[in-house]
Order: sequence, then structure tokens, then C-alpha cells
Amino acid sequence: MSKEEMRWDLSQLVESTDPALIKRKLESMVTEAEGVREKYYGKIGSLDAKGLLDLLELNDSMTLKYCGVTLYCRLLYSANAMNVVAKHLNDASRTAIMKMGQTLAFMDIEMGRLLAGNPSLVEDPVLAEYKHYLERILRRVPYMLSENEERLIIAKDKNGIYAWQQLQSEWLSTRTFEIEIEGEKKTMPYGEIIGLYQSPDRDLRRRANQIVYEALGKDEIVWASAVRAVCTDHLMVCDIRGYPSPMTQSLIANDIDQETIDSLMNTIEKSTGLYQRYLRMKAKLMGLEKLANYDIVAPLPHAPKKEYTWRESRDEVVSAYSGFNPQIGGWVEEMFEKRHIDGEVRRGKRSGAFSSTWLAGKTAYILQSFTGKVGNVRTQAHELGHAVHAYLGSRTQRPSNYKIGSCIAECGSIFGELLLTERLLSKATTKEERHAVLATVLDSFGMTGFQVSARVFFEQSMYDAIREGKFLDGETVAGLWTAARDKIYGDAVDWLDIMKWEWTMKVHYYIPNYRFYNYPYVFAKLFVFVLYRLYKEQGQEFVSKLKNLLAAGSSKSPWQLGKELGFDIRTEEFWEKGMKQAEEFIDMLEKTL
Ligand SMILES: [Zn+2]
Repeated sequence: MSKEEMRWDLSQLVESTDPALIKRKLESMVTEAEGVREKYYGKIGSLDAKGLLDLLELNDSMTLKYCGVTLYCRLLYSANAMNVVAKHLNDASRTAIMKMGQTLAFMDIEMGRLLAGNPSLVEDPVLAEYKHYLERILRRVPYMLSENEERLIIAKDKNGIYAWQQLQSEWLSTRTFEIEIEGEKKTMPYGEIIGLYQSPDRDLRRRANQIVYEALGKDEIVWASAVRAVCTDHLMVCDIRGYPSPMTQSLIANDIDQETIDSLMNTIEKSTGLYQRYLRMKAKLMGLEKLANYDIVAPLPHAPKKEYTWRESRDEVVSAYSGFNPQIGGWVEEMFEKRHIDGEVRRGKRSGAFSSTWLAGKTAYILQSFTGKVGNVRTQAHELGHAVHAYLGSRTQRPSNYKIGSCIAECGSIFGELLLTERLLSKATTKEERHAVLATVLDSFGMTGFQVSARVFFEQSMYDAIREGKFLDGETVAGLWTAARDKIYGDAVDWLDIMKWEWTMKVHYYIPNYRFYNYPYVFAKLFVFVLYRLYKEQGQEFVSKLKNLLAAGSSKSPWQLGKELGFDIRTEEFWEKGMKQAEEFIDMLEKTL
């Protein structure tokens, strides 16, 4: 296998890869933004529909003109952070993007005021293509403060509430943990020791959990102070802005409503028995009486260790997508053919995997580190689902309508994973292979659907406790966490006592001004399980429905997208359909026991 095949070709993103020319292009991006400011600053409030359309189109044309060059700089750096030119260009690009953002920040504020004064503009046929984009701006308006207040918040937060987030993340990343592996004492940072949670060695998994949470628990005063400050600050800002609930801000950002999330969470709560049924089945598969917390996502002891070459992985993934729809399969093939995927393992390359949309090119670029494990094939299928989303969305929508919120952003990717699951299941010849494929899909469903739901309940309970006047010290927060966790797991799992400190390491709890990072994951997972269920029921008829959904980008709300599928996502009935699909996977697993 040639290495080149696994290395992406970024030159397609730019007219020239000459660093001097790239820098010049970045400079002209800022200059152009300054021109827009000169022309429009202080004047948006008096625009009519046609005037507003011109501005929005101008903004979109700038996005298309410069998205290639900024993406080039970012990807070049992700591919090799040690490359001096890449470092330099990435820095130049980030600075240019920041400058452009600052220069154009007035647009959203002035547009908000314009729409607040003339809400009928949203309905104006001239602006039809931007309707939902404008609706989303209008929805934020009632909670906006005066310009001076907004500025004050930004200035004070920088060394105020953001300092707690920074402390939490720096504290965590500078801890080290000592653990003995095969008779040898090793010292590991947090990012490394958590890799042991997936070890096939059960005792090692247990010790890794014990060591990590024992150490984190010792610093409870740091974690509790940080989480208490961030949560209390959030409630205070909610009151000042007039948000009806601590979730409102995130609901607006995710283009969703409270009723939908309530139905989603109710469905989860009613289905914990189903999840627990799977956990008991997994215990049996692992030869255990009952799972301990460090077994929940552990690999099955008899899982086959098949290795894939780049070619084999490509064939599997392309076939999975082609079986669904030849056009989509063709795009996936094109991603390989045009070398838009970087799979090579290299020093200096970013870890993890991602897909970035290239709007002007109507395609995407993917980064992953491919070592031949089945997990890598799954990641490839996942990221290519994002790419398919990009192909469809960029062909149909303007850039302003391709700002997809986190509830919908995972639709293509998780669906693609399920297509691969189906293919792997159809090819599995042994019981062990089937177990491994089904356990992987159910482990992931359990973590994203149920474990993350515990985090939603937990976060809500912290706000409730503060409102009731409780002081959130470490033990109190730990009590709230275990209560939320037990609501999901019941008695299906034995927890090490020390796991009461599990909340301490989750960075999401400490991010100020963007709370409830969690439920969009639950939403996305169950939403896609519904989609997959519909595909199973409707067959080929469903293909165009999924294509339309992905092609809609952010031009429609998730509620609207659900409506076009024939459902109301505000009802539990919709979400139960996804649960039915999970149940079917569990039934399939049970039959092979
Ligand atoms: Zn994803």
C-alpha cells in the first residue's frame, strides 16, 4: 500500500501553496471585511428587505471566497504541528479570522435590532432563503443586553469565570498518576492513563479507575470551587438576561425547544430498564456475575482481532454507503480518489479524527490516524458521513444556512456508522464476530444515550440545589452526581466508591456561558436511531428523505426536519421509535447468546 494514498492533498484548497501568496490572501480577507464595516456600520438599522439581502449575500460570498485558504492553513497545521511553515500560516490565519470576526461583530447586533424593530422582515419574500437564519437571530434578541453591558461581561469574564475553567483544565492536565503495569512502575499524565480503561486486563482497568479517582477526589476543593462558581455565575447571568430556565441559552444555540428536550429525557428515563437489560447481557458475555463500572465499555474477552488494510477499509466503507445509495457511495469513493483523507500515522499530527467542510469546493477533508483496527474503519465511516452531509448541504445551501447545530450535525455520521454495522453484521461468520459488532453499537448507544443523560440530570440538579440555597461543596456535588447516575444504571452495575468523583474531570461542566453541553449528544444518537428505524421500515423510499434532511443544512429547525419525516419531535412517541431500534439490536444479541 503506498503511503501517498493515505496522505491528503491540500493543494486543491488554494490557487497557490506559496506561503507568501497565502498570507497576502489572508490580508485581503481582513481588508475586505473592513470595507464591509465602512459601508454598513451604524446603517443596518435602516436597511429594507432588498438592502438586507444584499448584505447577507455579500457576507456569504466572502465566506466562499476565503473558506479554502483558511481551511488550508488549519489542515496543514493539523497534519503536522511541528512544521514551521504550517505553524506560521495557522497562526496568521487564526489572527486574520479573529480580526475579521471583531470587524464584523456589529452585523449580528445591528441585524438583531433591525429585526426586533421590524419582525415582519423575517417573513419578507425577498429574504425567503434566509428566513430561518433571521428567525434564529430574532430569537436571541429578547435576551440581549445593552452594548455596554455586553462589553462589560466579556471584559470581566476573561479573568473572572473563564479563569475557573482554565484552572480546572490546567489542574487536570498537570496531574500525574502512578500505576504498576506488569511489575513496572509507570508515571502517566491523565490523557494517557485513561487509555487503560479500555484494556482487556480487568484488574488493570479497575486499578486505573481507582488510582485516577482517588487522586482527583483529593483535590475536591478545587473541582467543587470551580463547578460551583461556573454554575452560580450561569444562574446569575440567566436572571440578568431573563432566560426562563438555565437551559434556554443552549436551546436557542441548538435551534431547539424545551418541550422537545423534555420528551427526549422522559423517554430516556422510561427506557433505563432496556439499557440495564443490555448491561446484564454484557456481564454474561464477559463471564461476570455483574458488571463493575470499569467493565461498561470494556472490550469483550473473545472479540476477534481482525486487522484491515487501508484498501480493505475503503472497500468496506464505500460498499456500506453504496448499498444505501449509489450517488452517496460515489461521493465517498471520490473522497478517497481525490485524496481528501489523511490516514497516515505521523509524528506531529493531531490525534483523534475530524471532518471539515469545504463549502466552496462542495466537499470535505478528513483527518484520522489509521492503524488497521476495526475501530478505525468505524471512525472512517463516521467521518465520511460528515463528508456526505457536506456534499449535500454545500450543493443546496448558502453558507449562512450551513451552520448546523450539534443536534443535527451528527446525523450523517452516526447513520453511516449504522450502515457499516449492518455490513459487518452481514459478513460476520462466527458468533464472536456478531457479539463484537453488536456490543460495539450498543456500548456506544449506552454511553451517548444513557450515560450522557445522567450528566444532563446531574447538571440540572446542581442548578436546582443552588436555587434551593444549598452550598455545593465536594461531597454535595458528589451526592448529586451519584443520584443522577443511579437513576440511569439502577443496580445493574457495581460502582467503586471512588467513582463519586467522576464529575471532577469532565471539562464540559466547567465551560462558562455555554451550559448543557450534554443533551445534544443524546438527541443526535436517538434521532439517528429513529432515522435508521425508518430506513428499515421504508427501504429505498427513505433514501431521498435522508438526503433532503442532510441537504437542508441549518435552513430548517430540527423540529421542521422531523415534521417533514412525518413526526413531531416534541412527542415521546417519536423518541420511542429510536428506542425500538436499540431494542432490536439487543434482541439480536440475545438470540446469539
Ligand atoms: Zn462526528
